Amino acid sequence: MRLSGEEKERYSRQILIDKIGEEGQEKLKHSSALIIGAGGLGNPASMYLAAAGLGKIGLVDADVVSVSNLGRQVLYTTNDVGKKKVFLTQERLNKLNPNVKIEVYGERLSSLNASEIFLEYDAVVDATDNFETRYLINRTAIKTSKPLFIGAVGRFTGQVMSILPGKTACYNCVFPEKSPEIVHSMTDNNRSMGILGSLAGTIGSIVSTEVIKFFVGIGSKYFNKLLIYDALDNNFSTLSIERDPRCKICGDE
Ligand SMILES: [Zn+2]
Repeated sequence: MRLSGEEKERYSRQILIDKIGEEGQEKLKHSSALIIGAGGLGNPASMYLAAAGLGKIGLVDADVVSVSNLGRQVLYTTNDVGKKKVFLTQERLNKLNPNVKIEVYGERLSSLNASEIFLEYDAVVDATDNFETRYLINRTAIKTSKPLFIGAVGRFTGQVMSILPGKTACYNCVFPEKSPEIVHSMTDNNRSMGILGSLAGTIGSIVSTEVIKFFVGIGSKYFNKLLIYDALDNNFSTLSIERDPRCKICGDE
């Protein structure tokens, strides 16, 4: 399916970039991404991916909006407190870009429903805030061979990691489940440690950029790399990471 006249106008600033063009825009139109988490990371990621013209976006989140969400979850307003996040996001994204099909799953991701949902999409975005779901997402992405883009934030630090299942390091290769290092990881569970709201915007935006580049097939990717952003020192650093052949999730054994 080619771009309509309205789509050519809507995406004109993106199409003007020679590495994207109409061809790249059509690739986005034929791509789909599942975003898990409609919070501080999921808000900017879903808004930019919808604005960029993906064909289909899925959203998984069981929560309702609370007042303490509003400091970083900028898609919601004070009037939305108590309402279910996925339905608010769906309504907002439909208004933002009616060309994008928005599917919502107002339930918690679990080992019972994860594979079935993942198989409906070309790629998965981890925009969650807890380890339990993060490991479940990683396991399911490896099992279903879905490219996975992870954003994580806490206090002033953000991380971004992208995974090609079976080809590049998975989350468990770098942060093995139940390992002692996990306790010292800086970016998890902003419920207990706090987070600067604007940092979630930065990291959610970077993740959506990686997804767009992946679908268009351009740029240097973050596979086998861990991007760490220290907002306090305004410093981006990239660590090289490797697949662990003994990884319990993606290893060869
Ligand atoms: Zn692994």
